[in-house]
Amino acid sequence: MAREAAPEQGREPRLFLAVDLLGSRVTLDSPDAHYLGHVLRLRKGEQVTVFNGRGEERVATIERLDRQRAELILGAHRTALPEPTVEVTLVQSLVKNDAMDLIVQKATELGVRRICAVKTDHSVVRLDATRADRRLAHWRKIAQSACEQSGRHSPPTIDCYATLDECLATVPDDALKIALHPRATSADEALPRSVGKVCLLVGPEGGFSVADLAQIAAAHFATLRLGPRILRAETAAVAACTFAALRWGDFGTNHA
Ligand code: SAM
Repeated sequence: MAREAAPEQGREPRLFLAVDLLGSRVTLDSPDAHYLGHVLRLRKGEQVTVFNGRGEERVATIERLDRQRAELILGAHRTALPEPTVEVTLVQSLVKNDAMDLIVQKATELGVRRICAVKTDHSVVRLDATRADRRLAHWRKIAQSACEQSGRHSPPTIDCYATLDECLATVPDDALKIALHPRATSADEALPRSVGKVCLLVGPEGGFSVADLAQIAAAHFATLRLGPRILRAETAAVAACTFAALRWGDFGTNHA
C-alpha cells in the first residue's frame, strides 16, 4: 500500500494503540472507543491516524463506534516523523506528582528518548514497588498522549530506579553526561559541538545532596548551570531538554 506524507501537524486526530497495525482492520475496547467518541468527538465514517510506536502509522476510518467498542478499517500507511538523531536521556530526581507529570509530557514533546525517574537524597516523594508500578503506567500514558498531540511516533522508554548509583550505571559510556546544577562553574562553550547521546540529570526540589554530587562526579558527569537564577526542577528539566534539542537535536533542522 502506498505510503502518504504526514498531514500538517495538528490537523488530524491521532491515537496511540499498542497493537500490530499491519492488517486491514482493528477492534478497540472500552477506553480507546470512549476516547474516540467522547474526547476526540469522532463519529462513524470519520478518520483518525493510528500509530503504535513500533514504526506502523496508518490512516483509519471508523466503521462502527459505541461506548464499549470501535471497529476501524486501516488504510494508507503514513511515514512516521523521524526521531531526533541525538539520543537524549533525562534522569529526573523524583519530584512531586504534578511536576513529574509535566516533565514527562514536555520531555516527550521535546524528543527525549529515555526518561529515568530516580530517588535522590532530597526527593520528598517515596515510591515503594506497587506505587512505582502505578506511577510508571501513569507516566507512560502521559507520554503516549504527548505523542498523539505532538505528532511524535515513539514514546520515550520510562523507568524508575531506587538509587542514583543503580540509575547512573545504566547510562552508556559514550553518552555526554551533564548534571544540571545552579552552582556549577562550567560554561556551556566547553561542551562538544556534536554528540550522538546525551544524558541530562536534574535534581529534586531541594537540590542534590553532597553525597549525590559525589556519586555524580564519580560517574563522570560534568555540571552545567543554566543562567544565574534558581529554576524550579520542572523548569530546569524543560530548559535542559530544550537546550539539548537546540544544540544537538532537530530544533535547527529545516523540516519543510
Ligand atoms: N536549593 C536547591 C539548590 O541550590 O540546588 C535548588 C534546587 S532546584 C529547585 C532543582 C533542580 O533544578 C536542581 O537540583 C538542578 O538540577 C536544577 N536547576 C535549578 N536551577 C538551575 C540552574 N540555574 N542551572 C542548572 N540547573 C538548575
